[in-house]
Amino acid sequence: MELRIYHMYPDLLNLYGDRGNIIVLERRSRWRGIRVEVVNFTREEERSLEDADIIFLGGGSDREQELLYSHLSKFKNLLKELVEAGVFVLAVCGGYQLLGKYYIDAYGNKIEGLSILDFYTQAEKGRLIGNILVETNLPIGLKTIVGFENHGGRTYHDYTPLGKVIKGFGNNGKDNKEGLIYKNVIGTYLHGPLLSKNPHLADYIIKKALERKYKKEISLAPLNDYEEILAHERVKDKILKEGKPKIGLSL
Ligand code: GLN
Repeated sequence: MELRIYHMYPDLLNLYGDRGNIIVLERRSRWRGIRVEVVNFTREEERSLEDADIIFLGGGSDREQELLYSHLSKFKNLLKELVEAGVFVLAVCGGYQLLGKYYIDAYGNKIEGLSILDFYTQAEKGRLIGNILVETNLPIGLKTIVGFENHGGRTYHDYTPLGKVIKGFGNNGKDNKEGLIYKNVIGTYLHGPLLSKNPHLADYIIKKALERKYKKEISLAPLNDYEEILAHERVKDKILKEGKPKIGLSL
């Protein structure tokens, strides 16, 4: 079996080591004998996208989001088709915000989104920064997901969240929701990179992408995740011991 992973704008959407998510997906697939091709999709080098099995968008500053939008908007219809066809999309922070209708940044500039999903984001006073612990209902074994968030944008939607915020801010610091799930789309504010301390989520993405591609149930061979789970538990304990998160200064 093989997977083609599209890394969207690795030169722009590259905050807080988010490219580590590509490395985790690639390694956890290859360790199971699954061939992987990583395709870098940039403004200079577009690729077809139709052959994507996983599409990854990382985090970016307001400036990078604005920079790439006009280029990415050329592919909004195709991306919507791919989402509806069940291609797996993992979108982190700025990448997550771009899937919605718009993002109003800290200066009141309206950055158009792809309108693939029906939600919006607006920057509000202060930044939502810190470690974050989420409880998910995804059938991925471990119920918790750990990460780090740093965003001025607050996202509002009625989709199924990735999970409930146990500690931290999440989508907007108000409704106790973190992220979004729609078909095989996961949007999240969790950096870290997200998948390095959440191998159960990484395997969920690999499994779902393979099942859509090969149209059959896939059970992945277990890996020795001792270190990854130890890191997950250590971070979870640390987050639970931390005080209530405080909204950071606006940049
Ligand atoms: N620029 C967006 C915000 O500040 C996203 C930041 C990010 O990707 N970490 O909300």
